[in-house]
Amino acid sequence: MLRVGIKISFILMVTLAVKSVALADAVSDKSAASRIAKLLASFDLEPFIAQQGNPAPGITVGPAIRIENCKNYPYHNQQSPMQGYVMLANDIREGLRIGLQCISGNGPAGPLHPYHNQQASLLLDILESNHQKTFRCVEDKTFAYAVAIAPPEQFKYYEHDQDISEISYPGVAIDTYRVSGFLSRKHEPSAYRDFFKLDEQQIAEHLAGNPKRMQRLHRYENRKELVFHEMVHWLGHAHTNMSPDVVDLYEACCFGGSDFISDENSNKSFQLRACNILKDTELWDANQKQQTRLWRKKAYDQLKPDMRNMYD
Ligand SMILES: [Zn+2]
Repeated sequence: MLRVGIKISFILMVTLAVKSVALADAVSDKSAASRIAKLLASFDLEPFIAQQGNPAPGITVGPAIRIENCKNYPYHNQQSPMQGYVMLANDIREGLRIGLQCISGNGPAGPLHPYHNQQASLLLDILESNHQKTFRCVEDKTFAYAVAIAPPEQFKYYEHDQDISEISYPGVAIDTYRVSGFLSRKHEPSAYRDFFKLDEQQIAEHLAGNPKRMQRLHRYENRKELVFHEMVHWLGHAHTNMSPDVVDLYEACCFGGSDFISDENSNKSFQLRACNILKDTELWDANQKQQTRLWRKKAYDQLKPDMRNMYD
């Protein structure tokens, strides 16, 4: 759904043919817990916090995680050039802490189906390798808050934008204009007048000075969830309404509902629904065709529309 200010159902067309280990009972993964602890400990941010000046073109943290062009992350209001890099590194680390603990069955939701332990293990394989993982900030380049660079065999969008197309897998581009809730500078002049109701002076200021922040454009708050969401795309999971959408289910279960819903009770109930789906033995033991049938039959396909109806 390509709509400014609404979270984009991004983009991937194929799911990897990685299926669940057919274990009967949900179990938490203790070996994942020690791998996660080691991964998190490898993020040493202290030297960067102490560093002054612009670290152009980027910094490397943890296991070959490269952060580039992020001095304005997240909201274009940083006090020092290094602060944006450190904030993103921290969001990545905390997103991984919450997300990996949750899907490996060691989080507050308790044990999920073992298929999700396996996804945690695959994501840890990617993160622990020496292969570079790139997070690059861009400004006013996409309609999405963030774009995951998918596995190479998958169709790639945004090839027209060099800043994004040159990021190799596994990577994430984060658009700090979208995260900040800024109005794009790339609309047709009529859009500023007719849709955003700006007068000529406001349009001139917006295009030449600081970009305007619009109330109707959502500022992304749960940034840990955003970066974890994008990293789950590295496993090849696409967004879909026809069968289990692993990325959205992890987001809702592990990070407490949706960034677009402020009502706490609604978020709690959506979180519970998502976690219960992730625990459903019948669903996750099934093959892809059966999953599609069960998804509809059990009315799990109603979760996304129900959540959208509660968007602020
Ligand atoms: Zn996505």
